[in-house]
Amino acid sequence: MLDSLPGWEIHLWSIVLGLVVGSFLNVVIARLPHGQSLITPRSACPKCHAPIAWYDNIPVFSFISLRGRCRHCEAAISVKYPIIECLTALLFLAAEMKVGVSSALVLRHWPWVSILVAVTFIDLEHRIIPDALSLGGAVLGLLTSLLPYEIGWRSSVLGFLFGFGVFYLLALLYLQVRGRSGIGGGDVKLLGMMGAFLGVQGVFVTILLSSVLGSVVGIGWARWSHKKDLMKFAIPYGPFLVLGALCYYLLGDQLWFQFMIPM
Ligand SMILES: [Zn+2]
Repeated sequence: MLDSLPGWEIHLWSIVLGLVVGSFLNVVIARLPHGQSLITPRSACPKCHAPIAWYDNIPVFSFISLRGRCRHCEAAISVKYPIIECLTALLFLAAEMKVGVSSALVLRHWPWVSILVAVTFIDLEHRIIPDALSLGGAVLGLLTSLLPYEIGWRSSVLGFLFGFGVFYLLALLYLQVRGRSGIGGGDVKLLGMMGAFLGVQGVFVTILLSSVLGSVVGIGWARWSHKKDLMKFAIPYGPFLVLGALCYYLLGDQLWFQFMIPM
């Protein structure tokens, strides 16, 4: 049935679905780190605790029509919510344009980008990466690698072991040299999960890109905030791994990318 739809209609549905899933990811990001249920209770205003009606919970549009304020107490609603919804919608569209409408899109690619969005914002806010996302995602990556045109279970298992192993060894080394842990266990499991989706090559490029991005931003941030010892302050590394992984995922088959990054 979906094959008969014109291209722009499929793109539109991808965006709409991405907005809805992005709205759910906002719930995941707010509740998963606290171990709260993702289903009940219904979303409420954090200030006045008034339940949010369905017509005030429409992704992006409600934020605009309410001008970013709670209908009851006028408390400001964080701009983070519509940003996460738009970001998810864009990634849903990009994944659909990359692999087309297929079982792999629904079972593997859309869940993959959703996990990356949740990981990024939970790590930024709480400095943790829940196992439900990293290890749960790894299981999903391994299982769905068997779908047609995907990387297959061997590449997926190798990618997982490579991602997990490289960062595990780095973490051990860092501990030996500096006497304290620099790479979090969450990052180790996250890179393993990425390997289950992207394979060994993807892990390699992800580490390369994320370390370059992380260094540039880290040095810039240290300069700007006048921190003397660069090694003594930590910014979460998860979001950089996500940026690196997304670059590989979205641009990996493009010629200029392969030219710039030896693979
Ligand atoms: Zn309120």
